[in-house]
Amino acid sequence: MNRKRVLITGAAGFLGSHLCDKFIAEGYHVLAMDNLITGDLKNIEHLFPLEQFEFHHHDITKFVHVAGDLDYILHFASPASPIDYLKIPIQTLKVGSLGTHNLLGLAKEKNARILIASTSEVYGDPLVHPQTEEYYGNVNTIGPRGVYDEAKRFQESITMAYHRFHGLETRIVRIFNTYGPRMRLNDGRVIPAFIGQALRGEDLTIFGDGSQTRSFCYVTDQIEGIYRLLLSDYVEPVNIGNPYEITIKDFAEEIMRLTGTDQKVIYKDLPKDDPMQRQPDISRAKEILGWEPLVNREEGMKVTYDYFKNLSPAELTKKEH
Ligand code: NAD
Ligand code: UDP
Repeated sequence: MNRKRVLITGAAGFLGSHLCDKFIAEGYHVLAMDNLITGDLKNIEHLFPLEQFEFHHHDITKFVHVAGDLDYILHFASPASPIDYLKIPIQTLKVGSLGTHNLLGLAKEKNARILIASTSEVYGDPLVHPQTEEYYGNVNTIGPRGVYDEAKRFQESITMAYHRFHGLETRIVRIFNTYGPRMRLNDGRVIPAFIGQALRGEDLTIFGDGSQTRSFCYVTDQIEGIYRLLLSDYVEPVNIGNPYEITIKDFAEEIMRLTGTDQKVIYKDLPKDDPMQRQPDISRAKEILGWEPLVNREEGMKVTYDYFKNLSPAELTKKEH
């Protein structure tokens, strides 16, 4: 069978591994690439027996080469949680800049369409609410989060330059907070952090006074939005996320109800430049892709909690940071 061939970078990570599943299910040949710096092979090991799946252990900041044709590239390699990118700031800048440059070069050589994983962080601590794609953002270039935000902003710029200058077929998705099974329990993001604390019987740590907001998108919705964008003919960035916004304080209470924990919340300092509010305006995704999220937070969080509940005691107590 002559399958279309897709390269997915960051394939052993949370979103990358779900993308691998999606493209395998849609009948593609998947080349998965990762250097495992924040990812884990257990997220994709179920695909190893398939002949339409291959794994390449490679750091994409080094020259990237793959044999044979490529139809599509999905570039998802990058540390994605604040704890990760604060711990490895230079690799974060390199993967967004040098890594993206390498993949754009590969896309040009193979005449492949490339989709780049950008982020709501390009809007920084937004002064416009909800965030539309027209908003230019409010990013502190020299703050600790700048390594991630600016790498992603550069990534968007170089992608558009390859599109304009080389006529490359490019797509840019601006992903808003997404959650689900295969997130790393200790990656510091709020959902695994709260669930891990509840499962270990620890107090839930709210940063700041908890009045900051986020809007959480379930992973299957996110993957469907990305898939539709890739197959669309739309070049400008598109927000994909769930507009249903909640304060972190209310979210902690939701988690306590979900997990039945009788622990309390404790308050810690708000990290520098932590955005105070975040909610995607998804009008563009609705109009161009006919996409909107289908899974509400109650359903999505239940599946996510079940996933974390089934981790081994060793995984539950493993400390990374
Ligand atoms: P993740 O940490 O689970 O996955 C990232 C993967 O990239 C990991 O497997 C890691 O090992 C790999 N990687 C990092 N540097 C690499 C390099 N130099 N070479 C090869 N592989 C490398 O994170 P995720 O949540 O799955 O995020 C995936 C992508 O989506 C990232 O680009 C991230 O910026 C973007 N994103 C995610 C979210 C979200 O809510 N999950 C939000 C906005 C943007
Ligand atoms: N947060 C929190 N307690 C935690 C982890 C995170 O209160 O243990 C807060 C964090 O300060 C931020 C929000 O939850 O305001 C979402 O954080 P996350 O790291 O998940 O994502 P991001 O800030 O990148 O949106």
